[in-house]
Amino acid sequence: MTWLLSILLAVLGLAGSGDGGGQSGGVTMNVGPPQADSRGPLPAVTRARGENPPLVVIDPGHGGQDPGAPSPFGNVHEKDITLALARAIRDDLARFGRVRVALTRDGDTYLPLEQRYEVARRLGADLFISIHADAAPLNDQARGATIYTLSEVASDREAALLAARENEADLIGGARLSPDPGVNLILIDLAQRESMDRSAEFARLLYREAAPVFPFRPDWHRFAAFVVLKAPDVPSILFESGYLTNQVDAAYVQSPQGRRQIADGMRRAIEAHFARRFIRSASRETRLHGPAGLG
Ligand SMILES: [Zn+2]
Repeated sequence: MTWLLSILLAVLGLAGSGDGGGQSGGVTMNVGPPQADSRGPLPAVTRARGENPPLVVIDPGHGGQDPGAPSPFGNVHEKDITLALARAIRDDLARFGRVRVALTRDGDTYLPLEQRYEVARRLGADLFISIHADAAPLNDQARGATIYTLSEVASDREAALLAARENEADLIGGARLSPDPGVNLILIDLAQRESMDRSAEFARLLYREAAPVFPFRPDWHRFAAFVVLKAPDVPSILFESGYLTNQVDAAYVQSPQGRRQIADGMRRAIEAHFARRFIRSASRETRLHGPAGLG
């Protein structure tokens, strides 16, 4: 939480517990019990070591009746490639056991865009990553990965719609929504700005960890108003893994080696992201309260 948001919440007396609803630490490669809330079933979450480990939701783009982009190389659609990549990332993260992971879909099923980020919000996710594969039918030379983050703070209209949709028991950025719609707009706007900063920070980390291993486009960080990126309180990126219309990229994202390398780069970036956050909050604690035992 930024200092600005913390101060505002303190002034408004709205600060919540900030608890992400984490499970207790468990065994690596272990999937926890089925999840559910008042809105219905939720995907399984893998266990991880430590107390309240962070939770990453990986979203394999498309699925079911929405096949995504077709590839002219091999009889395959984007929805199958994104699912295989997402599973590889989940398995790699679960194997190392430093973060918990859930997939928005773990089969060939259709999921509306809003439901994808709502799954992340309902689970109390700390990071949301939507996996896709690009296509440029008129330029088969286009290749490389791209990371998208949200282009602008959600308009007041979108924030108002979200506030209207939530019931009063819901939380935004760790704070309880207020009965006052004007206050809610400010809360949602502040949470969204903070999420956008964290999303951009994660985009830079992912590029740093992955660019030495697989190719990115020269303009590797782009901004767009993708619906799946609009959770106001969960840092979110959309990862275009490569071009299905480019023969080299299409072969790479479908190959076991490509999947392994993408999963490895993603895992290292995710672990670095949370390690950084942990160090930051620990040093802030020390600044505020002095070293442990003295504060
Ligand atoms: Zn896509």
